[in-house]
Amino acid sequence: MRYSGLQVIKQALTGHKGWKPAWRDPEPKPNYDIIIIGGGGHGLATAYYLAKEFGQKRIAVLEKGWIGGGNVGRNTTIIRSNYLLDGNEPFYEFSLKLWEGLEQDFNYNAMISQRGILNLIHSDAQRDAFIRRGNAMLLNGADAEMLTTEQIKARYPYLNTEDARFPIKGGLAQHRGGTVRHDAVAWGYARGADKLGVDIIQNCEVTGFRQENGRCVGVETSRGYIGAGKIGCAVAGSSSRLMSKVDMRLPMESHVLQAFVSEGLKPVMPGVVTFGAGHFYCSQSDKGGLVFGGDLDGYNSYAQRGNLPVVEDVCEGGMAIFPAFGRARLLRMWGGIMDMSMDGSPIIDRTPIDGLYFNGGWCYGGFKATPASGFCFAHLLARDEPHPTATAYRFNRFETGHMIDEKGMGNQPNLH
Ligand SMILES: Cc1cc2nc3c(=O)[nH]c(=O)nc-3n(C[C@H](O)[C@H](O)[C@H](O)COP(=O)(O)OP(=O)(O)OC[C@H]3O[C@@H](n4cnc5c(N)ncnc54)[C@H](O)[C@@H]3O)c2cc1C
Repeated sequence: MRYSGLQVIKQALTGHKGWKPAWRDPEPKPNYDIIIIGGGGHGLATAYYLAKEFGQKRIAVLEKGWIGGGNVGRNTTIIRSNYLLDGNEPFYEFSLKLWEGLEQDFNYNAMISQRGILNLIHSDAQRDAFIRRGNAMLLNGADAEMLTTEQIKARYPYLNTEDARFPIKGGLAQHRGGTVRHDAVAWGYARGADKLGVDIIQNCEVTGFRQENGRCVGVETSRGYIGAGKIGCAVAGSSSRLMSKVDMRLPMESHVLQAFVSEGLKPVMPGVVTFGAGHFYCSQSDKGGLVFGGDLDGYNSYAQRGNLPVVEDVCEGGMAIFPAFGRARLLRMWGGIMDMSMDGSPIIDRTPIDGLYFNGGWCYGGFKATPASGFCFAHLLARDEPHPTATAYRFNRFETGHMIDEKGMGNQPNLH
């Protein structure tokens, strides 16, 4: 069924009896051409593009829980392409362009809203750094604009720009950035992939890999053995655990990141704003809740919940720039597992084992990457060569020293 305005009217007039399930619930087949492990945004997008753009058939996505239960449904929904480095910026701009046509492409309302993102500047040195980043964005075909304090005040009159501890001296804006309803992205890709014949198998945990003559030929799962021509791993925060089953130690650590939502308020935040002197960012959902977050909890964990010191830290950051928000009540908070890489940038590459491919290391920026990550991983799986925008995302950059260290933090995953 194709979704459209006419369809909504037709269903409304006939008691909404004609809606079909958005995707099937098939039993696993004994083997597939390609298996994708992980039914998050990246795994589902990979399966979708494999079928749609690369003509692949007999594809399955194996998800240990339910679609949308991982980070794709836990993030703070921000999309942008405001990166500095050559290895990153073309990839994230490719992703933003895919977001711009995505709803028409997969025929699903993902509430993509290009309401803009603004990075606040609090010092002259920071202004220099942001001008450099803005120029790198423009050179890569993205949009970027430096805003003055007056321009920012006109849009966000309640920001304390002058007598605050961190006065606001301007900002770097990307007007094409914004927010997307995160779980709708999982559902849209799942529905689109299912329509193209992909089997989405939920409640199917991969517990091991079967190898024959140095080649990966299938996976052991909680629902039995499934054979495959090629296997792509896209399990985000569980990457180290999954790859340890083939004795691969990844240049990666798993950390908790928390997100917060306030009670619903009338529209007050027109776009996304990030604090430049601490780690805090905020937007407002279409339901009215202030959606905000900050730093990692700072220790290795596979728990999907966080601790109170970071709640305090995030709220302090928020109060430093948005004192008025102190009157809003916190409604919900939760955590997700971050696959933090050693340089803060992702990996989309073959593994040393034939037939086994890897996608991970998204740190806390993987939601915006979902379309490009899926497209580039599908490109690699189908053609055995990296997509032109993802050539830098190789395992061997940690051997050759070609790090893509956007923040210049060095190999400290918790700081990226
Ligand atoms: C609080 C928070 C805020 C964030 N904010 C942003 C943001 O604003 N913008 C942004 O760009 N990014 C953000 N991120 C990061 C982003 O959400 C992730 O980088 C991205 O979603 C990871 O990719 P994914 O969607 O495929 O992951 P997931 O949805 O986690 O998918 C991985 C899936 O693999 C499954 N899995 C794991 N092990 C197995 C197994 N053995 N067998 C089968 N299945 C398995 C899991 O159940 C899971 O469903 C945020 C993350 C969090 C937690």
